[in-house]
Amino acid sequence: MRLLNFFFLLPLVFASNTVLAGYLEVTFLGTGTPQPDIDRFGPATMVEANGRYFLFDTGRGVTIRLKQAGIPLSKIEHVFLTHLHSDHVSGLADLMLTGWIWQRQNPLTITGPKGTQALGHHLEQAHQADIAYRSANTRLDAEHAKIKSHEIKKGGEVVYDNDGIKITAFLVNHYPVEPAYGYKIESGEQSIVISGDTSYSENLILHAKETDLLIHEIADAEQQLITNNPRLKRVMAYHTTPEQAASILNQVNPKQAIFTHVLLFGIDEQQVSKKIKNLYRGKFHIANDLLRVGVGKEIRLYPENSRIMR
Ligand SMILES: [Zn+2]
Ligand SMILES: [Zn+2]
Repeated sequence: MRLLNFFFLLPLVFASNTVLAGYLEVTFLGTGTPQPDIDRFGPATMVEANGRYFLFDTGRGVTIRLKQAGIPLSKIEHVFLTHLHSDHVSGLADLMLTGWIWQRQNPLTITGPKGTQALGHHLEQAHQADIAYRSANTRLDAEHAKIKSHEIKKGGEVVYDNDGIKITAFLVNHYPVEPAYGYKIESGEQSIVISGDTSYSENLILHAKETDLLIHEIADAEQQLITNNPRLKRVMAYHTTPEQAASILNQVNPKQAIFTHVLLFGIDEQQVSKKIKNLYRGKFHIANDLLRVGVGKEIRLYPENSRIMR
C-alpha cells in the first residue's frame, strides 16, 4: 500500500518548487481538534502559491508534519490564525523557535484576531533565555526569532496582497469566540476558502461562493450523547453538523470540498459521509493528515498518509 501511495505521489514530487502562477497546492498538516490523536494532529493547513508558503493555524505537532511533508521549516514566514483557541496555536512556539534554528531569514509574521499581538509578544518573552543562548553562541540572528504580529481590524480585510497572491480574512460564526475568521486565498483564476472553526455562517457562504476548493470544519455526535451531556451540546453549537455542511456546500457550489478539524463523538467518518451524501451531490472528501490537494484547472487529491514515516 505504501509503495502504491509513493507512485501516486510522483507527479507532486516533480511539481514541487515549480508551482505555477495560478496553481495552488494545499497540504493538510493537521486535521484534528483539541483531542490528542496520533493520526490527527492539531489544526494546520499549508497553502503553497508561487513558491511561497502560507500556513493557516499552528496546531499541535505542526513542525513534525512539516518535516514529514518535506516542507522546510525555514521557509515558513507567514502564519494566519483563524482564532486563538489553544488547539489552533499550541504548535506556534515550536514553529517560531525551530524555524529560527533551521535558519529562517526573517521574523515570523503572524496575522490573526485581537489578542494575536499579545500572544506573539509573550511567546517571545517566554523564550528569551533560549533566544539569548543561541544568538550568543551561534551565528543565529536574534532578530529572526522575533514575531511580527498583525491584528485584523475587521472582516473583509485584505491581509496579504503580493506577487499575484491575495488573502482576505472574513468573519465566521464561532460564537462565543469572537472574532473568529475564515480566509480566502486567490491566485490567478484559482481560489481556496478556509473556514476555520465555525458553525453555519452566511458570511462564509458569501465569501466562498463558487470557489474552487472549500476547506470546511465538520463535527458530529450521537444524539444520545448530546442529550446526556450539556457540555457536548454547547461544543456542537459552535461547530458545523453534516446537515449544516450539506446546506453550505449546496449554496457555495465549490468544485471540491474537503472537511478538516474532524470532531466526532460516538459516530464515524462513514456515517458522516453518508449523511452529507444524502443531501449534497457534489465532490467532497474528509481529509487525513498529509493529504495534498492540487488546485489548478483541475483539482487533484493525492493519497493521504503517503509520507507518514513512523
Ligand atoms: Zn478548533
Ligand atoms: Zn475553536
